[in-house]
Amino acid sequence: MPGELSKVLTAIFGEENVLTDEISLASYSFDASNVRGTPDAVVRPTSEEEVEELLTSATEHNYPVTPRGAGTSLVGGPVPTQGGVVLDLLRLNEIYEIDEEAGWAEVGPGVRVSELESKIGGEFYFPINPDGLGGSTIGGLASEDAASSLSAAYGTIRNHVVGIKAVTPTGKWLDLRGFQGGGPRFLLDAILGSEGTLAVITRLTVRLRRRPQYALTYKVELIDSLDALSLYDELLSRGVEPAALDVVHRDVMELVGEGARDVGARALVTLIGSPDCVGIQAKRLEQALEEIKPLSFEVIEEISPGGRALVIQALRQSKFPAIFVSAALPTPQLRDSLPEVERVASRYRIRTLTVTSVPLGWVLVGFAYNPLDEKQVDRANAAAMSTAELFSKAGGVLGYGTGIGASMALPFSKQRPEASAAFAEIKRAFDPAWILNPGKIVPMRG
Ligand SMILES: Cc1cc2nc3c(=O)[nH]c(=O)nc-3n(C[C@H](O)[C@H](O)[C@H](O)COP(=O)(O)OP(=O)(O)OC[C@H]3O[C@@H](n4cnc5c(N)ncnc54)[C@H](O)[C@@H]3O)c2cc1C
Repeated sequence: MPGELSKVLTAIFGEENVLTDEISLASYSFDASNVRGTPDAVVRPTSEEEVEELLTSATEHNYPVTPRGAGTSLVGGPVPTQGGVVLDLLRLNEIYEIDEEAGWAEVGPGVRVSELESKIGGEFYFPINPDGLGGSTIGGLASEDAASSLSAAYGTIRNHVVGIKAVTPTGKWLDLRGFQGGGPRFLLDAILGSEGTLAVITRLTVRLRRRPQYALTYKVELIDSLDALSLYDELLSRGVEPAALDVVHRDVMELVGEGARDVGARALVTLIGSPDCVGIQAKRLEQALEEIKPLSFEVIEEISPGGRALVIQALRQSKFPAIFVSAALPTPQLRDSLPEVERVASRYRIRTLTVTSVPLGWVLVGFAYNPLDEKQVDRANAAAMSTAELFSKAGGVLGYGTGIGASMALPFSKQRPEASAAFAEIKRAFDPAWILNPGKIVPMRG
């Protein structure tokens, strides 16, 4: 690390909160994606003011700053691809206030979903829990506009954040708490989902949800993943809108050791509500299953952690990283695209990990590869780019839920040049020195 930078950081954070040793730097050089980049230093603020000081210093001295929550991003969002300083926000993890009666909590950005849930009474919960394990931070979720399997019923994190406090790279504070009905709500909406490229969120007011009185999840084994789309159509025609309907494709089932020979996919259908209401929906669901004729089904009396929790297991099992492509598509295009993805994977001879949330038209595909096999790395990259193009041409929203980050920045700017240029202009207004999380959303300085 350049001596000058070291002095600046130590003056702001104190020696004990600036990490520069090789092992620490290596442990901040990756996330859950294939993207890699080593920082020059890692800082761990313990106050909101330190974040402001860091950003104004970075703008003045022109060094990159990459905000980081729990590092579970699937697109390289918290990876310092251009070096500089990683801003580890995990110590800003205070739960300032919980008002269960009014149904909200004010928290620091480094609070993980599991930490918040452990502090709120059993009748409340936080349904935007993408990995199903509560490992992500509320700041990271807000920055990605994260979605989860239950987003069909509850919306994305955007629908749960009623206020934020954030600081821009030039040190301007945006205190946007208490404007949920209007006024500067549009500004709050601009920061949410901006992937740590416009401002750093230092505090959030989030809505708490009451747990549903009752929940049932049907685990349905199907011959083909497309049968799950037909099941969803059947359910809608019977007046049932499931809170979640995830399809875990065969590739994931095989990796977690649950891939029986003739099972092409597993659907996880969650119904929530009062016991009476769930009972009626369950009866209609079973009638719909008679039409679809699944291989088998069983019922669990709870909300399932969703299909993406199985992707974590599959990744651990395969021991290989994956390049992820995520998009939300209109239903007919989703139906056409799923077999296309399989064709892409077989053309490039790459193993996939696929989960689809049918009510959201949302598909997440991981292309797994052996990092020691250069040819396989190239094939996985080509398969991911080809799939991003496929989704984009089908009218899909690239990066739905997971964000665009570094790994999807190139396809995003290729497929959506006007949107990419408009984003660059907005970023310049917030971040004239282009120091905050550079290389994310758009690959280069616009
Ligand atoms: C198996 C698996 C499944 C997943 N499934 C889903 C899914 O279904 N839906 C989904 O949305 N995501 C999913 N993810 C991705 C990930 O969980 C989310 O993107 C989550 O929002 C990241 O939270 P984090 O705390 O780990 O943030 P990080 O990964 O550390 O950071 C995410 C982004 O936010 C920025 N950031 C973090 N904190 C702040 C802050 N305070 N201010 C400004 N910027 C900040 C970072 O720079 C980065 O760009 C999945 C991940 C895994 C491993």
